[in-house]
Amino acid sequence: MDYSHTEKAMKVHRIFLPLLIIFSCATLKDAPLKDLPADREYVISVQRVIDSRLPSLTEAQFQDMLDRLQGYIREYLGYRVSFYLMGNQDLLMFSKSMDFSESAETMKALKNDLLDMDSPADHQRLRDYIFKLVSRTETKVLRRYVKDYDTFESREKLADHLYRQYVVKLKRIQNITTADGTPLNAPAYAETLTYPFWDMALMHLKNAHFIFTNTVMADMEVNIPIYVVLRYGVTTGMVEKNLYNSYRAAGILFTYPFLSADGFFVSERGEAIPPEELTDVIALYATHEFGHFLNHYKDYYDHDNCIMVAAMDLNYYQWYRLRKEKKCDLKHEKLKQF
Ligand SMILES: [Zn+2]
Ligand SMILES: [Zn+2]
Repeated sequence: MDYSHTEKAMKVHRIFLPLLIIFSCATLKDAPLKDLPADREYVISVQRVIDSRLPSLTEAQFQDMLDRLQGYIREYLGYRVSFYLMGNQDLLMFSKSMDFSESAETMKALKNDLLDMDSPADHQRLRDYIFKLVSRTETKVLRRYVKDYDTFESREKLADHLYRQYVVKLKRIQNITTADGTPLNAPAYAETLTYPFWDMALMHLKNAHFIFTNTVMADMEVNIPIYVVLRYGVTTGMVEKNLYNSYRAAGILFTYPFLSADGFFVSERGEAIPPEELTDVIALYATHEFGHFLNHYKDYYDHDNCIMVAAMDLNYYQWYRLRKEKKCDLKHEKLKQF
């Protein structure tokens, strides 16, 4: 289940033990992550958080997805895990239960990067950020992931295109009409579409290690990776440091981009996900997040058929096919911190 560290140094220099304990408690938060030994089984507590307005996997489908995920974690990441499934929670209740007041400063810092779709100044910030991001991204990465890359006369033109596409398509996503007639970003739900909300939620998560939610993170912000720009602000999953559990990590997967029957997602997916493969596709995508969570792997951008390369568009079936076809055997560096 949870892992514990035994420092050889502590055994040898018993006299320093009390001192070392004080030192390690004070700095645990900032200490480099340690590799999880692969010779044991890890129990992962899973919490489903449900937006009742949106489609979600049935209980049987969800269990099937977890079984597949367990197999993929073994196959792609080399770890044996078992899942402990908590009771489902309603998204609005979950949102109410998250008290971020103890980290008000962190929340404020996170919100500095969150932009307001109605603010012209924030649009300029996004435009400037995308321009900088595109300027510093390697050509081989852009060529690989930007559709019709070679038709853009300059990086400026490309950045401008990506900015426009981002704002138009994000607006379209946020205004999707849900089952009860309200838009996806109805006031009660608006915050649950944003990075600061989920980043804080993961840092403060106490009852579970990993969340599966049927909503989506789709917001306008700066300091995001290129693949989020190419997906118009959509984040499919992430892993963040956790302040309480012994993995020192918590993760989340957003399933709306896989499950939405809205015309926008249907068309942006490009390839339909065959219904009989839906749980398998979601399980393999979740495996990417567990590559961060368990192996502490970084994201990669230029590996072929690599589980640690995130989807660069909303065609998740293509992403899945390429990783089922073969595996990446290149070396993967480890994060020292989430
Ligand atoms: Zn990733
Ligand atoms: Zn790779």
